[in-house]
Amino acid sequence: AASPAGDPDAGLNPQQREAVETLDGPVLVIAGAGSGKTRTLVHRVARLVARGTEPEAILLLTFTRKAASAMLERAARLVGPACARVAGGTFHAFAHRMLRVHAPLAGYPVSFTILDRADTAGLLRQLAGELGLGGSGSRFPKKATVAAIFSRAANTGGDVTAVLERDWPHLLAEAEGLRRLYEAYTAYKRAHGLMDYDDLLLRWCDVLEAHPEVREAMGRRFRYLMVDEYQDTNAVQARILRLVACGHDNVMAVGDDAQSIYAFRGANFRNILDFPKLFPGTRIVKLERNYRTTQPNLDCTNAIIAHAREKFTKHLVADRPGGRRPVCFTALDELDQARFVADRVASYHARGVALAEMAVLFRAGFHSFQLEAELNTRGIPFTKRGGLRLVEAAHIKDVLGVLRLLVNPYDRVAWNRVLQLLPGVGPKGADRVFAAVVGAPDPFALLEEWPGRARWTPQVRRLGAYLRRLQGADLALPAVLERIEAWYRPYLERRFLEDHPRRSQDLAQLRGMAGRYEDAVTLLAEVALDPPEPDESAGEGDRLVLSTIHSAKGLEWRVVFVIHLAEGRFPAPSAEGRPEDLEEERRLFYVATTRARDDLYLCRPAMLNFSGAGLLPARPSRFLEEIPADLLEQVAPASPRAGVAVPAAAPREAAPPPGTGAFPPGARVRHTIFGPGRVLEVLGPEKLRVHFDVSGEKVLNLQYARLQRLGG
Ligand code: ATP
Ligand code: MG
Repeated sequence: AASPAGDPDAGLNPQQREAVETLDGPVLVIAGAGSGKTRTLVHRVARLVARGTEPEAILLLTFTRKAASAMLERAARLVGPACARVAGGTFHAFAHRMLRVHAPLAGYPVSFTILDRADTAGLLRQLAGELGLGGSGSRFPKKATVAAIFSRAANTGGDVTAVLERDWPHLLAEAEGLRRLYEAYTAYKRAHGLMDYDDLLLRWCDVLEAHPEVREAMGRRFRYLMVDEYQDTNAVQARILRLVACGHDNVMAVGDDAQSIYAFRGANFRNILDFPKLFPGTRIVKLERNYRTTQPNLDCTNAIIAHAREKFTKHLVADRPGGRRPVCFTALDELDQARFVADRVASYHARGVALAEMAVLFRAGFHSFQLEAELNTRGIPFTKRGGLRLVEAAHIKDVLGVLRLLVNPYDRVAWNRVLQLLPGVGPKGADRVFAAVVGAPDPFALLEEWPGRARWTPQVRRLGAYLRRLQGADLALPAVLERIEAWYRPYLERRFLEDHPRRSQDLAQLRGMAGRYEDAVTLLAEVALDPPEPDESAGEGDRLVLSTIHSAKGLEWRVVFVIHLAEGRFPAPSAEGRPEDLEEERRLFYVATTRARDDLYLCRPAMLNFSGAGLLPARPSRFLEEIPADLLEQVAPASPRAGVAVPAAAPREAAPPPGTGAFPPGARVRHTIFGPGRVLEVLGPEKLRVHFDVSGEKVLNLQYARLQRLGG
C-alpha cells in the first residue's frame, strides 16, 4: 500500500514481517525484551489502516493509556493520521466504556461509580466496623490483605475459604469473619451501583457470556484485536478477548513470560502459554534478535533470567555491535549512591545526552528520596513516574468527591468523603445523612431542607444548596472544578495548615488536566482507572526520569541506573520466604536491566538505613550476586568520606550469620556502628533487642547487623 513514508514495513526482520502480514486468525508473538514486539504491533496497526480497514474496527489493548497513544502516534507517522481513530487503551478502560452502555444487563445502572483502591479500603473499613470485625487487638488482617483476598475470591468464583486455604492458610482462623465481610462488600456494591477494578472486568465478561447479541455486535464492531504485554493479563481478560473475538478470531497477542511482574494484582504469566488453547490454530512467532541493546548488556540480562525457575522464551542475540559491560557500583551508603548517579548524569548531559534519555529505576517509590534531594540541590530537573500519584492525594480526592456527587448523587463513598469535610460531621453523621439520601428523588434538595437540630445542620443545608446550584450551572469542566475549589478553599486551609499553598497548585494542575476531557464521567473514570500523570501535562523541558520498575515496563532509555540493589530493598522484604514472589522479583530485576539501550549501571549502597536500627551494613542483592563477575565492571567509591568505613561485602557462600544462638540475653556484644552493649531479648531466629551503652535500645536483624560477642 502507498503511504506517506514509503514502505511502512521497511525495518522489519522476516519474523516480524510474518507477524505483521498475518492479518487473519490468531497470532501469538512470544519473545524476550527488546526484540521488537511492540514495534511489530505498531506496524501491524499501520498496515491494517493503510489497506483500508476502518481504524475504529481495530482494538489495541495495552497496559497503560499512555502506551496506547504512543503506539498510535508511531503508527500515524508510518501511514497517516487516521491511526488516531483506532480504539486503544487498557482492558479496564475498554470494559468501562462498554459497561457505560451495557451495565443494565449486569444489573447495574449506567451511572455506576468506580471504586479505586483507596475507596475500596475505606469501604472495607466501614463495613468491617459495622460487622464488628477487626477492632483493636483483634487478629483480623489488614485492609490491603483483605482487598487482595477478596480480589482473588471474586476472580475465582467467590469462595473465600478456598482462597484462604490455597494462598493465606495462616488466616483460616478468620475465615468466618472474612466470609461475612465479603458478602457484605458484594451486596453493598450492588446496592449502591459501585464497581471495583475486578468488577469492571467480571461484569463485562458476564454480559458477554450471557448475551450472544452483545457478543456478536462486538465481533462485528472490533474486527482486529491486538494486545501488548500479554504476560500481565489475567484469566478474565483472556476470556473477554475470547468472547469479543467471536466470529473471526483475528487476535494478535504479544508478550514475554519472563517479564510478568503483576502477579500481585492477579496477573498470571501462564495466560500467555494458554493462548493457543484459547484460540486453536494459533500461529506462534518467535523473535530472537534484540534491537534495543548491545551484547555485553544482553549477556548480563540473559544471565539474570537464566536463574528463573520457569522460563519459556529464548536467549537473545544482539543486533547492534560493540558496547561495554554494565557497571556495578558499590556505594558507601545512600548519599554516596545518589552523588554517583547525579555525577554520571551530569557528565553524560555535558557530553550531549539529553536528560530525558536517562532513567533511574528502583523497586519502591521511597528509594529515590535521597536522590531527589541530591538532584534538587544540583538543579538537575527530573520527573517521577509511579509511586504516589497526584490523584491519590487527599485534597484531590476531596475535590473529585464533589464532582462525583454531581455525576451520581447516590455515590456513598463520595458522600462520606464530602460530608466529613464539614466541621463536626463524623462517620456516624455522614451515615445518617446518607441513609436519608438513598431514598430521596432529589438528594441535594433534601439536604437543603435537612431537618435535624445538630450543630452541623446549617452546614449540611448550605452544602445541599451549593450542590444544587452547581448542578444547575452550565459550565465547562475546568470552570466546574474552579467553583468546587472555591468552595473547598476554607476546608483546605483549615485541614492543611502548613502546606495548603502547594496543594492549591495541585488543584490548579488538576484543573489544567480537566481541560482535556469532554465530561466529568470520562475524567473520573480515567482518574480512577489509569491516572493521568501530572508530568504529562506539566513536564515541559528536558528532565531525567525517575521511575519505579513497574512503571518502566515496555520503555527504553540510552542510559539506565538501577539503584538500591541491596538485600532488604531488592528483592522486596515482603517476598522473603515466598518462592513464587521471589521469582517475580527476579523478573522485575530482568525488566529493569533490559530497559537500557547503551549504558547500564547497577548500584548498591554498602550501608543502609533500616528503619529503627540506624545505618547498617547491607549485603548486595542476591540477584546481583547471581550475575557472573566477569560480565560486570566493578567500580568502588572514589573517595571514602571521612568517618564512614566501607564494609567488605560478605560473599553469599560465606558462613551464614551466626544466628541469635550465639547471643543469649545478658551477653555483652559490640556492633560496628553502635559500639558495645548488652543483649536484652531474643526476638526471633535473627532478631535481637540490644541495649547499647551509648545509643540506647535497638532492635537488630542479624542478617544485616555485624555483631561481635564480647567477654563478660
Ligand atoms: P519489551 O519486551 O521491553 O516491551 P519489545 O519486544 O516490545 O520490548 P520494542 O520496544 O518493540 O521491543 O523494540 C525495542 C527497540 O528495538 C526499539 O527501539 C525498536 O525501535 C527497535 N527495533 C525493533 N525491531 C527492529 C528492527 N527490525 N530493526 C531495527 N530496530 C528495531
Ligand atoms: Mg514492548
